[in-house]
Amino acid sequence: MSDLYAVIGNPIAHSKSPFIHNEFSLQTGQEMRYEALLAPLDGFAEAVSAFRQHGGKGMNVTVPFKLEAYKLVTQLTERANMAQAVNTLKFDEDRILGDNTDGTGLERDITINLGTPIENKRILLMGAGGAARGVVLPLLKAKPSILVIANRTKNKAQALHQQFAAHGNLESGDFADLSGKNFDIIINATSASLQDTLPPMPPGIFCGEALAYDMMYSKELTPFLEFAQKQGVKYLADGIGMLVEQAAESFFLWRGIRPETKRVIDRLKQRT
Ligand code: NDP
Repeated sequence: MSDLYAVIGNPIAHSKSPFIHNEFSLQTGQEMRYEALLAPLDGFAEAVSAFRQHGGKGMNVTVPFKLEAYKLVTQLTERANMAQAVNTLKFDEDRILGDNTDGTGLERDITINLGTPIENKRILLMGAGGAARGVVLPLLKAKPSILVIANRTKNKAQALHQQFAAHGNLESGDFADLSGKNFDIIINATSASLQDTLPPMPPGIFCGEALAYDMMYSKELTPFLEFAQKQGVKYLADGIGMLVEQAAESFFLWRGIRPETKRVIDRLKQRT
């Protein structure tokens, strides 16, 4: 019997994870199956337990269960502990290991796939929700000259600032505080694009050679990327690369093999 994995969420039908992991397993010759599992909103722990009893070896966790997964595990990696959110579960005999691969996925997409170094760059992270929380530590570990966290609800940005202050040069505030500042890499980790709208950024936040990165992905440019393009930004990226890279990091945790990601990203971009 091949090893069984799944992505768990609600809703889940839209998930690209089964496609991505199927590509990885074909590419690496790993004997495994990967499926999408819809859990009831009040039944996450029970669904994980049933999956484990059926011999499941690991799971990806998506909206809205990342915080519940954090509470369910018996052991955490450092990055999951700092993020206080778990997107990857690995099951052993008597242990549930929780990891968070979102931040590493973003960092690898920016530095490796897009060829944009983070070291000594001025980074703006917009948003302070689950996605932003997961990327702060990996971004700081890449040694930017400064990381500014801006959020509509200012105290959430300040809370993240406080939590990660020991790990690098951080500032925090709301969007009005960005006035007069500009950045080399601007990451949209708000869900504004999902609502087809823009975070209320002041104009002029993009440096000459800036990279504008939206964690959301869609066939057309997101409102944020369209705004950046109109401001003259040449380097635009959506979250497809991050999605595939975080999946590759989960695959590595489970199988000990790092799959090649470029072809999968290209195939997914054609399908999206
Ligand atoms: P959350 O719901 O946890 O957080 C939403 C964040 O967006 C909050 O900071 C919220 O601010 C802010 N926000 C919402 N609407 C607006 C608006 N109109 N203007 C300004 N700020 C706004 O969501 P997640 O953090 O889980 O997800 C954020 C985005 O990242 C989504 O688009 C998601 O699809 C994407 N994502 C992509 C991944 C990938 O692999 N590519 C992985 C994970 C997420 P406030 O605190 O004031 O409410």
